[in-house]
Amino acid sequence: MNWLILLIASVVGAGAYFIYEKPIEIQEPIIANLPQETQEEISISMLPEKVEQGDPVLITINGTTTVESLKLNGKALKTFMHNGKLSALVGIDLRSSLGSFPMVLTLKDGRTVSGKFAVGERYIAKAPLGIPEKLGGDTPEAEKELISTLVEEGKLISAVPTANEKLWEGKFRLPINPPIVITDTYGYSRVTGSSNISHKGTDFRAKVGTPVYAMNSGKVVFARFLRNYGHTVIIDHGFGLHTIYMHLSEISVPLNKEVKKGELIAKSGDTGYVLGPHLHLSVRIGGISIDPEKFLEILGE
Ligand SMILES: [Zn+2]
Repeated sequence: MNWLILLIASVVGAGAYFIYEKPIEIQEPIIANLPQETQEEISISMLPEKVEQGDPVLITINGTTTVESLKLNGKALKTFMHNGKLSALVGIDLRSSLGSFPMVLTLKDGRTVSGKFAVGERYIAKAPLGIPEKLGGDTPEAEKELISTLVEEGKLISAVPTANEKLWEGKFRLPINPPIVITDTYGYSRVTGSSNISHKGTDFRAKVGTPVYAMNSGKVVFARFLRNYGHTVIIDHGFGLHTIYMHLSEISVPLNKEVKKGELIAKSGDTGYVLGPHLHLSVRIGGISIDPEKFLEILGE
């Protein structure tokens, strides 16, 4: 039960602070003891229900929208309306420590609801991956340059801005049109020489020139060539949510352009550190690359 995440609390007055974990049967007699007019049930639900390293998590607050703050491990989360309920998105790092983290919901009248947010271990597969000739081939020098330039490019990507408002609307579409074939999944470790490089995205089979579409509305905050990631576009959807499209053959949108969901932003390609043409998609929440397939299960069409 280390992944236990359901929290339900009854609120009985300013400063009341309850922690109820499963089993939640104890909730009922406590509510029954309260005066009728103060009965109020507030709960927090999460998707996915079992959170693992590398997961996106959609937190939904049920029973109230008069929220002062929602904090996870002491850090305030941005909340937004989703399906008529106040919600928040959290990204769990692939290397996140395991265990439980405190979550505290504070209402505008000062009452609080508390619970735990547990992160379980993700199975990480390993597979060898060579360095293409265009980036120096399988030599120690090419490996050294690959690692150092990946670090530099990672810094550029992490530095992109995000709007302090929600720019996306409704569900996210796929970045390319069907048929969809996923050739490499998120999270596995690529063994290159003596280095292990985590694959922090999803690879879609796409021949060079395949149209790539904005997965939702937002703003282009990065549009340039990178040695390893090739031609790269990043769309900011606000509140720290970014979709990143890599190894493109062509970029079709300028920096700072506001785009609508489904708008053509690029053509897929085989630029940068690739062994064949494909579209690499990364999804970041608060600067943390999470599993795009799980993201689409939660917020996809
Ligand atoms: Zn990839």
